[in-house]
Amino acid sequence: MNLLHLRCSLCGEIYSPDSVRYVCPKHGNNGLLDVVYDYEKINGYTSPATIAESHDFSIWRYWDLLPIDSRLAIPPLRTGWTPLYRAKHLGGSLGLTSLWLKDDGLNPTGSFKDRASSVVVAKAKELRADVICAASSGNAGAALAGMAASAHVPAVVFAPQAAPQAKVAQLLIYGARVLLVKGTYDDAFDLSLAASNEFGWYSRNTGYNPFTAEGKKTASLEICEQLTTLQSSTGGRTWQAPDRIFVAVGDGNIITGIWKGLLDLRALGWIEKMPKLMGVQAEGAAACYNAWKEGTDIITPVDAHTISDSISVGLPRDGTRAVRAVRDTNGAYITVSDEEVLAAMRELARGEGVFAEPAGATGYAGLAKAARDGHVDRDEQIIVVVTGNGLKDVSAAMKAAGKASVIEPSLEAVRRETAGRAP
Ligand SMILES: [Zn+2]
Repeated sequence: MNLLHLRCSLCGEIYSPDSVRYVCPKHGNNGLLDVVYDYEKINGYTSPATIAESHDFSIWRYWDLLPIDSRLAIPPLRTGWTPLYRAKHLGGSLGLTSLWLKDDGLNPTGSFKDRASSVVVAKAKELRADVICAASSGNAGAALAGMAASAHVPAVVFAPQAAPQAKVAQLLIYGARVLLVKGTYDDAFDLSLAASNEFGWYSRNTGYNPFTAEGKKTASLEICEQLTTLQSSTGGRTWQAPDRIFVAVGDGNIITGIWKGLLDLRALGWIEKMPKLMGVQAEGAAACYNAWKEGTDIITPVDAHTISDSISVGLPRDGTRAVRAVRDTNGAYITVSDEEVLAAMRELARGEGVFAEPAGATGYAGLAKAARDGHVDRDEQIIVVVTGNGLKDVSAAMKAAGKASVIEPSLEAVRRETAGRAP
């Protein structure tokens, strides 16, 4: 393993992973730890060309950049290496020449969160944890429950009582112990930490466990590798980074992970430029946007309300790093309404055949708004990360899609309804 140490994102203090498990002892839950590697050592025995030859089509193709010692700890469910689609139709409709969709709804439990859960469950196996627990608005819990099932580690998931039915069903079918908390995601988060401390369960909570961002960073590694191979036939010594990446922001850990992946690649000298990170939040849950706009990275909680349940977060636990990710890369925060999200769900599905849940379509809703407002250039290479599958939240999809026609079983009825044409 090439991990050097953990470093507090607030004070810069360095810790050994053997002495500190979750957060900076001086700063408590605000002192999130960044994972630092020995980049020189990594460059000594791997490279983009070596990785290009790997037949491991999962996040584990980036083994040398991940914080795990033994391959025996890896959960069997295949995570990552999701498709990067060239979105010609939607790009054309927005006046953009190089738009790409990273469809992370195609992960094994249907969301981006599988990347984090795969790494954290592997870590739990290494630490010989008896139980692993997490608070989740739905997807992180489902990802944990699925990975834990495949690795045979017992899991306890705390979710808000209002989590969508499909997500609760997913938690239950994988056999996790599911505790629906009468309260918000924020209440579930605090309760799960208290339970982790009380019972010694290994916590997978985002914005707490330092290794979730390590799993999530693999999206950036894939984006840069795939973008390079999809556009050139020869494998080079470096990868090509896009100009901008749009992604939905809830608790802030996904955009932090994406940033971390890019920072690792830059430290290795494998990319030459840093993409601008574009954080997209729901108008009704915009704590990171507010902080960014006010020029601070101190997060003031909001009362969260949005159709995008996965990013309906009042207090983003990884908010400070999420604001820095955008500011340090010269990106921007954007907010979108629920109506814009529903429109984005239709456009992604009808324009490119990608079915996203509301939070999964939020990144695209942000791009559509930025493009309409003239905030992106026509020839920029733009990635939109689709973070969750549309089947996760069928009632939201029905809201976006409208109703089907009900007809008598006769050709006459078909003729009356369609006049012999598709819509
Ligand atoms: Zn600290």
